[in-house]
Amino acid sequence: MYSDLEEIIRKTVVKLLELAATDLPEDVENTLKVAYEKETNSMAKSMLKSIIDNVLVARKWRYAICQDTGTVIFYVKADPKIPVVSDLPNILRRATAEATNLIPLRPNAVDPFTEKNSGDNTGRYIPWIEWDIVKDLGYIEITALLKGGGSEAPSIAKTLTPAEGLKGLVKVVLETIYESGAKPCPPVIVGVGIGPTADIAINLAKKAALLRPLGIRSSDPNAAKLEEILLEAINKMDLGTHGVGGVTTALDVHVEYAYRHPASFSVGVVVSCWALRRASARIYPDGKVEYISHKVL
Ligand code: SF4
Repeated sequence: MYSDLEEIIRKTVVKLLELAATDLPEDVENTLKVAYEKETNSMAKSMLKSIIDNVLVARKWRYAICQDTGTVIFYVKADPKIPVVSDLPNILRRATAEATNLIPLRPNAVDPFTEKNSGDNTGRYIPWIEWDIVKDLGYIEITALLKGGGSEAPSIAKTLTPAEGLKGLVKVVLETIYESGAKPCPPVIVGVGIGPTADIAINLAKKAALLRPLGIRSSDPNAAKLEEILLEAINKMDLGTHGVGGVTTALDVHVEYAYRHPASFSVGVVVSCWALRRASARIYPDGKVEYISHKVL
């Protein structure tokens, strides 16, 4: 038996997965439109036009934006005083299985040993959940992310020496993007993380790349400057949309950092394809739901 609030959360999560799969967030769509206006390579321009048309058709008919509906990841910010918080993993799992059937989502959860696909996008540790427990927040905020498999190909974490530092970081990021070519379906969004260990760096890179709206610079002036430098350098590579050349290879670069260890300078690079699919909502203890990424009537 599930409480009313649990049912509201389950339904909201199914809706978030539908929005993420079918309705590209406004910031990503607007950045694609700017890239289309700026593009000088005719083949890249026509591909950007197809991407934008595809986004409009998917939204109108509630079709998946891409056949790869990705790995389901949730970022949860929760007030520990709200009673259902400890049940959220179960609710998110149930909602994921239900959404896979309803929307539908492509079943993308595969046992790496047996190669068996679970069929409903759930499995060991999947959907993946990142937690942020915030005292006196007053609500639960859930962001659903669908992370495409192809754009994961270039993602890396590497620990440099402090002497290699920022110059080494720039080299790692530029080599990673250049060598990935058309594999991650450019134009891409690049997340760069810095920290004391490889796992912290890549975790920050992922959060920065996927959650911060495009066009918003880091509030830290050093990180913001690095974002501008990397974005300009990547867009000079002439890889362009789907690797055909052009002035936009990356729609944006986001940098996030933690203080590093004196002996290590770890760098994480996470890439998202242009189909950066995310949707967020806040759910209050009285059952009120507020969608914060999309307009829902
Ligand atoms: S990388 Fe992105 S756009 Fe390309 S196939 Fe995967 S999900 Fe689709």
